[in-house]
Amino acid sequence: MDYEQLGFKCGIEIHQQLDTDRKLFCHCPVDLVDENADGKFERHLNVVAGEAGEKDKAAEAEALRSRKYVYKHYSRNNCLVEADEEPPHDISQQALDTALTFARMVNADIVPEIQVMRKMVVDGSNTSGFQRTMMLGLGGKIKTEYGSVKIEDIELEEESAGIHEKNSEEAIYDLNRLGVPLIEIGTDASIQNPEHAREVALKLGMLLRSTGKARRGLGTIRQDVNVSIEEGARVEIKGFQDVKNIDELIRLEVERQKNLVELGKELENAEVVGDNVTHLFEDTENQIISTVLENDGAVYALKLPGMTGKMKQKISGDKYLALELVDYAKSQGVQGILHTDEDLEKYDLVEEFRKVSDVFDKKDEDVIAVIAAERKQAKTAAQEVLKRAEMLYTGEIPEETRNAEQNFTSSYMRPLPGAARMYPETDIAPIRIKDEKVKEIDRNLPETLEEKKNRLEAEIGDQLASQITNSRKIGLFNKFEGSVQKKDLANYIVNTLPRLESEGLDVSNQDAEKILDSFSKKEIEKAHLEEASRLAAEGSDNPVDEVLESQVSDEKIEEAVRDVISSKVAMIEDQGLRAQGALMGEILKDIDADGSRVAPVLQKFLEEAVNE
Ligand SMILES: [Zn+2]
Repeated sequence: MDYEQLGFKCGIEIHQQLDTDRKLFCHCPVDLVDENADGKFERHLNVVAGEAGEKDKAAEAEALRSRKYVYKHYSRNNCLVEADEEPPHDISQQALDTALTFARMVNADIVPEIQVMRKMVVDGSNTSGFQRTMMLGLGGKIKTEYGSVKIEDIELEEESAGIHEKNSEEAIYDLNRLGVPLIEIGTDASIQNPEHAREVALKLGMLLRSTGKARRGLGTIRQDVNVSIEEGARVEIKGFQDVKNIDELIRLEVERQKNLVELGKELENAEVVGDNVTHLFEDTENQIISTVLENDGAVYALKLPGMTGKMKQKISGDKYLALELVDYAKSQGVQGILHTDEDLEKYDLVEEFRKVSDVFDKKDEDVIAVIAAERKQAKTAAQEVLKRAEMLYTGEIPEETRNAEQNFTSSYMRPLPGAARMYPETDIAPIRIKDEKVKEIDRNLPETLEEKKNRLEAEIGDQLASQITNSRKIGLFNKFEGSVQKKDLANYIVNTLPRLESEGLDVSNQDAEKILDSFSKKEIEKAHLEEASRLAAEGSDNPVDEVLESQVSDEKIEEAVRDVISSKVAMIEDQGLRAQGALMGEILKDIDADGSRVAPVLQKFLEEAVNE
């Protein structure tokens, strides 16, 4: 595919949660674990006009669905700030420093005065109806294989509440995640092709992890992709988590836009018509529709001229054309659409569709599509689907926000949000960033993981270097790199700890640090690292002491050395000091001690024996 010729434009936005001591504007911890909620409360969202006086399109779309929002709260991770019942606390200095550090790593300019803003939230993912955000860096860039890519802006903001469950009446959110610090980075639209986007996303992820304060694991980093082709339209695909496959996501979106443009050229201009056809379904045998009608439902039908044979046409990966329309119905809480391009016999609807076809004067090449739902829902869904269907005939692609799916396709979520959505946060004073502060950040910029990997390759080998720089426990490595043999340290982190984990023995970071501390002070030996860690994971309060108690005593070692020397007299007479290696092997068969403790004892006694 020639992306340049297609007029491909693409920028990405990365959202990375931070692993700080506390949340951005309160003192709750950010370590989130699966646990049961301690309670819940409800809120309703009202659309209010922004400062510019116009209502946000996306907010209106959300309000059209008139949902109730339910928030589950967790006492360990939540206080009154997340419930919007207490003003924000002061900002987490650690989060701010991390964001400033990242900004300087990509050579962005730091704004001298940071103004915290309230960004309007349209989907209920924040109890207050807004998200606190602050722009702190501008005009950075990173180098890539395809030249440099601009980082337009860097923001520090509050993570939203996680969606737990969503249906047509209510959306249920988990509040534990709300308020976790989040760095948002936006590139300009100069990304040249899908492969390039992947490179940019991976590089930004690597740089974020290099700060040592990036959270790791499922959902801790998300990518939004802005993509368009010249004849298409700007589409924002949200919430993609599988960075290694971001190229595939983009490829499929380009394919979708290209196919829809082509379809528009192929179809003759025609009018899509729709109407309420509930009366034609009054005697239906179809279970679903009769149930809908019994519950104050309605049936709407649309005629899509010239669409026969096209509804099942693939337009993006496995996604076929009908789903472009189904997504719009679903956005109104409707299950789906029934249409004449599928087998109606299996739905027991042949007769009903014949009546509808007569009313609409359907020709062979026309498709009749039917929506059945609660009266109001059916009507808005039919209107939305009709609007979307009309665009198929002109090849116009709607500008919209789409949701990334598991199979790298995407589905319609809501219209693109407009610009009228920010206003200053009056509860927090602007934050001055002095030149001195920026200089201090510059003096302390971390080595990037890429640089670290290159440096370590010579010292501990390519494989270990790559494993340790990709490890979630790289922080442990950084901490002890200067005081422990790097190879031993890396092996402990990427081999010993995961091995224990696979046995169900999770060694906490604090325990691992304690054990490595004893190791660095030579209180315990390399051979004891695993045993001490095992004991710690099994709940021992003092794994180091326990391991020392079970350690072979100096007396035992001396005894074992004497035994072997007296039993190998002939060998020692024959080989002299060269017998040391073989003798060592014999001794270690006998006792469970570290070779480094045995060696000096053996050497001393062997020299004595040889000199006798
Ligand atoms: Zn809190």
